[in-house]
Amino acid sequence: MGDRYAVIGNPIGHTKSPLIHGFFAQETGQDMSYKAIEGPVEPASGFSDSVRSFIAAGGRGMNVTAPFKLEAFAMSDERSERAELSGAVNAMKFENGRIIAENFDGVGLVRDIEVNLHQPMAGKRVLILGAGGAARGALLPFVAARPAELVVTNRHVDKARALVEQVARPLTAAGSLIACGYADLEAMGRFDLVINATSASLTGQLPPVPPSVFSASGSAYELAYGKGLTPFLRLARNAGVQGIADGVGMLVEQAAEAFAWWRGIRPETRTLIDRLTVPLD
Ligand code: NDP
Repeated sequence: MGDRYAVIGNPIGHTKSPLIHGFFAQETGQDMSYKAIEGPVEPASGFSDSVRSFIAAGGRGMNVTAPFKLEAFAMSDERSERAELSGAVNAMKFENGRIIAENFDGVGLVRDIEVNLHQPMAGKRVLILGAGGAARGALLPFVAARPAELVVTNRHVDKARALVEQVARPLTAAGSLIACGYADLEAMGRFDLVINATSASLTGQLPPVPPSVFSASGSAYELAYGKGLTPFLRLARNAGVQGIADGVGMLVEQAAEAFAWWRGIRPETRTLIDRLTVPLD
């Protein structure tokens, strides 16, 4: 059976992680297993009990998905800077009785945009919609990509402000980092890249973003995946944006980061992204 890994979430039936990591393991010749665990939401200790029993059974690492990313943060012994800033953990490694925690969502997203979609962010105007877990995880890797301007917008604008204030220090060399409400966007001109990091698409909704933010020569990226042309991507396309993409590449890239962290070898991702892609039209 080899070394044991798992993803934990609730619900977990939809997860593609066992398929992805099974593919990576085969491709890189790693002797390991990877399964999905439905973590109990009740009692309050249900999540940490599940993690500890997985460790006791010889588990080496875990991915963490909704709704447990904050609980994984709370129970970890060591956290990376990006996990620390995002306040959320999506990967854990168990070593010498300690739980080491990471958040690869943001690096996976940046890698998909810059490497797979050939859209370097350096010097560009970038707009992130949403200030939830995914946006928080993305912020440090985005800052590291050195856009000229990074704007974070949220319905509850205080959340966007709090997030921006948290990273204000490491950002100084990278250009301006701004938090604002949706109502302010009309006056802010066009962006080279607009990212929907809200969960609106999961319920078929559209965040209240004005079409004026899109640039025909720019790109629009939807974090949700497997949903075809979401209302956000449709708005972007109607505004003339040619470069549109959903989050399937992010999903595979964050998994590849976790795999490399656990196993010391980075798998190839293109084949899997192509296989999992649901056409946007
Ligand atoms: P959270 O629940 O942490 O945050 C939700 C965010 O969406 C908040 O900023 C919330 O705003 C905003 N929001 C929700 N509904 C609306 C709406 N109708 N209009 C405007 N804003 C809205 O979710 P996550 O950050 O964890 O996930 C966000 C998205 O990213 C989801 O679609 C998820 O599937 C996707 N995702 C994709 C991944 C991938 O690998 N591709 C990985 C992780 C997430 P407010 O605070 O004002 O309520």
